[in-house]
Amino acid sequence: MKTQLLTEHDIDTAAEILRSGGLVGIPTETVYGLGANGLNAAAVGRIFTAKGRPQDNPLILHIPDPAWLDRCCRNIPPAAYRLARQLWPGPLTMILQRRENVPNAVTCGLDTVGVRCPDHPLALAVIEAAGVPVAAPSGNLSGRPSPTCARHMLEDMDGRIDAILDGGPCGVGVESTIIDMTVPIPRLLRPGGMPLERLREALGEVVVDKAVTAQLGAGEKPRAPGMKYRHYAPKAPVIVVTGDSRRTARYIRRNLGEHTGVICFDEYAGQFPNCVIEAIGPVSDKARQARRVFDALRAFDSTDVDTIFAQCPGSSGLGMAVANRLKKAAGFRVVDLGEDAT
Ligand code: AMP
Ligand code: MG
Repeated sequence: MKTQLLTEHDIDTAAEILRSGGLVGIPTETVYGLGANGLNAAAVGRIFTAKGRPQDNPLILHIPDPAWLDRCCRNIPPAAYRLARQLWPGPLTMILQRRENVPNAVTCGLDTVGVRCPDHPLALAVIEAAGVPVAAPSGNLSGRPSPTCARHMLEDMDGRIDAILDGGPCGVGVESTIIDMTVPIPRLLRPGGMPLERLREALGEVVVDKAVTAQLGAGEKPRAPGMKYRHYAPKAPVIVVTGDSRRTARYIRRNLGEHTGVICFDEYAGQFPNCVIEAIGPVSDKARQARRVFDALRAFDSTDVDTIFAQCPGSSGLGMAVANRLKKAAGFRVVDLGEDAT
């Protein structure tokens, strides 16, 4: 299959491919998604094949307007409508009870479905033109870092999908925050582009699921099935170092080998001699760190590094999502040097 590169002038072509059961790479504000008609089980099945995605990892439905919520979900609690009103379009996925028209191929047989309204003009235009909810996981091969530009998506998907719509680099850079709204106290299942603090402002109490910060034990089943898989991983193993940035920089300096890669804050980029450095932004700029984290992880694959150390931001704001992606890339191999107040 030849993968076409489309531009903003090709919205109708992209929508037509979706309507006829094909696969299109779609830019969103978080990362590039691999879209298919979310009401067509055969089309959704092709997503799993193209990505090599495990069959038990459900997909998120993307809608162009909060008014579409009722098309895919039922028993929607008032708090979900409130979130939709306040925070959509935006990097927030809500887990709600599914309607019968949502195929098992999307939910992997669960009675719930993840839904979001992305904040990207091209994504909204394509979904609107297709006239159906679009099922779209991140547009990477399963296990690889998520793509934040069309070129990265093409690296993974060339020849596997019909087209990629190039909308330039993604503004947020990490995937959506996932919140389960089917339980009495809303539960954060995956940190992402919508900070936990914003959700607590809107909802009051929000519980953070254990899978967000730690590797689950052998018998434990995550509430977001995707959280159990190793993810975002470059080819070389990653070791995450948490704590105050001066201490983490010192630790990494003391442990450098011959072919070491370092993901660090900009302030420390000059402190690791003879290493491959990926600076992901200043200590205080977590939005920039979020935009850079997947590109940084991907960049090491074209080098000869055999170990990658990563400085890790504290958990406020977007730091929670950046830290989660780094720790997942590391398979939760973490050196903990104490509290980081940021
Ligand atoms: P991706 O789109 O690749 O970022 O992956 C989607 C994430 O959403 C995965 O971690 C899924 O496990 C999660 N997800 C999708 N649908 C549901 C659902 N109904 N319940 C819980 N988690 C879900
Ligand atoms: Mg993904």
